[in-house]
Amino acid sequence: MIRVRGYALPSGEVVDLYADGDRWTTDPAPNAELVEGWLLPGLVDSHTHPGAENPGDPLDEAVLREDLHRHVDAGVTAIRAPGLAGDPPSWFGQDPDVPRAWHAGPWLAQHGQFFDGWGRRVSHAEMPAVAGAQAARTGWAKVITDWGPDDEVVPVAVLRTVVDAVHAVGGRVAAHTQQAAGGLAAVAAGVDSIEHGMCLDPAALHTMAAQGSVLTPTLSIITSGLDRVRAAEPSPRRDWYLNGAEAHGPLTCAAVEAGVTVLAGTDSRPHGRISDEIFALVHAGLRPHDALAAASWSARSFLGLGGLTPGSPADAVVYPADPRTDLSLLDKPTAVILRGLRVR
Ligand SMILES: [Zn+2]
Repeated sequence: MIRVRGYALPSGEVVDLYADGDRWTTDPAPNAELVEGWLLPGLVDSHTHPGAENPGDPLDEAVLREDLHRHVDAGVTAIRAPGLAGDPPSWFGQDPDVPRAWHAGPWLAQHGQFFDGWGRRVSHAEMPAVAGAQAARTGWAKVITDWGPDDEVVPVAVLRTVVDAVHAVGGRVAAHTQQAAGGLAAVAAGVDSIEHGMCLDPAALHTMAAQGSVLTPTLSIITSGLDRVRAAEPSPRRDWYLNGAEAHGPLTCAAVEAGVTVLAGTDSRPHGRISDEIFALVHAGLRPHDALAAASWSARSFLGLGGLTPGSPADAVVYPADPRTDLSLLDKPTAVILRGLRVR
């Protein structure tokens, strides 16, 4: 049995908790293994697509488990996969060695868009029923709202019927947007999360805050491509990407200031890079406290997971000092506790 004692974020108050199965409790247990330090209630990667080596590849169970182990190595005890290469096996999100998981099954995309081999292509007429059926199975549907700069955007009227169909079964809609028009359509339709949100008009942030739409900016992956794109031949596609990526950090800061919940997500391979996203958020101007919120307690709250309090699911990541004052500690946790078991 595990016992954690130390300063628990976000408050920094001292806690002393025992894992009773997958629940934290203050009831002492004899012979519990004590782990002390600064405590986070588990990291969350809110936008990751484990289980395939390359875009378009089918879901591979061995790759999936390996990818999930990389997440656990990094202190990630829960993931959200807004799009997978296939329906995951029954152990996904369940086995002791893999994070808790929320997922939207395969992406839903318009014909002629998105990566070949990945996702389901649906007409506008089919989209609401397919999204509703997916959300009824797994709680989420993921819509590729826009794609290239010249591609058609899913009309806001279609997106509204998608949101209605998904909410009718108690699910939530994640919308991929990377064009200004796609972002505005998704926000106007009232989706639950904007994924990437590149090129989003900052004027939409107040609507997002008011209706509770969250933003997963995937900042590190978007900005990591900047040097390569700057070196490319001038083209409309290059201009679109440069403008969007250069504005993406300031947009993310503006989202926090507007009261939008921002979630940390790494998007692509290699897996287990949640600290890169936290660094990117801080580099963009977020306070370390807010960047950690995006990667931990805010994301857990969004998924319905409690923190380091009695009765909450027994996840924790332990560091030797306050990770807000030394972000390099994120890459070397003292311990990772998942479902009440020490897994690292
Ligand atoms: Zn993605």
